Amino acid sequence: MEFRYSTYRLELKHTFTIARGSESVVDVVLVYFTIDGVTGVGEAAPSDRYHEDCLSIVEKIKILTFNDITDSGTLDDWLDAALPKAGGMRSLENAFDLALHDLYGKLNSESMADHFGADRKNGCMTSFTIGIDEKDKIRAKVLEAEQYPLLKIKLGSDHDKEIINTIRDVTDKPVRVDANEGWDLEQGKKMCDWLAEQNVEFVEQPLSADSLDDTAKLREVSPLELIADENCIDSKNIPEIAHAFDGINIKLMKCGGLREAYRMIQMAREREMKIMLGCMVETSVAITAAAHLSPLVDYADLDGNILTINDPFDGVKVEDGMLVLPDGAGLGINLR
Ligand SMILES: [Mg+2]
Repeated sequence: MEFRYSTYRLELKHTFTIARGSESVVDVVLVYFTIDGVTGVGEAAPSDRYHEDCLSIVEKIKILTFNDITDSGTLDDWLDAALPKAGGMRSLENAFDLALHDLYGKLNSESMADHFGADRKNGCMTSFTIGIDEKDKIRAKVLEAEQYPLLKIKLGSDHDKEIINTIRDVTDKPVRVDANEGWDLEQGKKMCDWLAEQNVEFVEQPLSADSLDDTAKLREVSPLELIADENCIDSKNIPEIAHAFDGINIKLMKCGGLREAYRMIQMAREREMKIMLGCMVETSVAITAAAHLSPLVDYADLDGNILTINDPFDGVKVEDGMLVLPDGAGLGINLR
């Protein structure tokens, strides 16, 4: 199987700030597998939070070969052979996983939604994310996001109430809150009580990932559902966090691809947990891949491509907030 890769710098429309820090550009790695002139594309958007970066990924992949992967193998054979070559870097595992799913789908004329039994009729709405910012900028961003019926607001700073009040001056749209590990138990209790009066749908990762006991205590008293993000990397985490959270946020860059994401969906459903699909800042390659699973989940937050100004790909579209999947085989994406 032929393999190549390239790097790409995504530029953000606005500097994006969360409880952990800010970014205005994001470097991603694109990988390509080819059989008989048919090419599948995948993407790694590495995150500091998980100690991954583009440089380490390139160092890793520039010496890799995939000659041991036979073109005639099954998709699972390909994934089993390719993913361990990522050396544990989940965003790189994801890049391999997406490229191989895309290639498999194209060779078999099957879209990934069909592959995973996701019925397009059960479309999912995506939220649009507003990062932490000054009052005036938040107001401007909320107005700019007029076409998105659902907002996700980043909190976990010293002026959380001020941020919500600023938003509520401009719109009464339902809001999802992501604290990105920014609160302690006492703050979490106060904020969840207060946010429950502010047309907030749920709270994502209120406490730090190593405060699972406190998160379980918060869940007992919180009027709002708690969704695990930093506490839920892959399917192995689900049994150990199910008592502390009402749901999980699945991200391809954390879990290592569509195969693992689908496993997480099944495990969360068995435990009657809510399921959200999230993202990093990514091109339409990874966003579209995640969107193919969106008919299977409760909440989507797949706006990482919309936050950029130079996405090189076309894929999933957002119409009145709803994710609209492309028709083509595989991931169904095209170069712009
Ligand atoms: Mg989050």
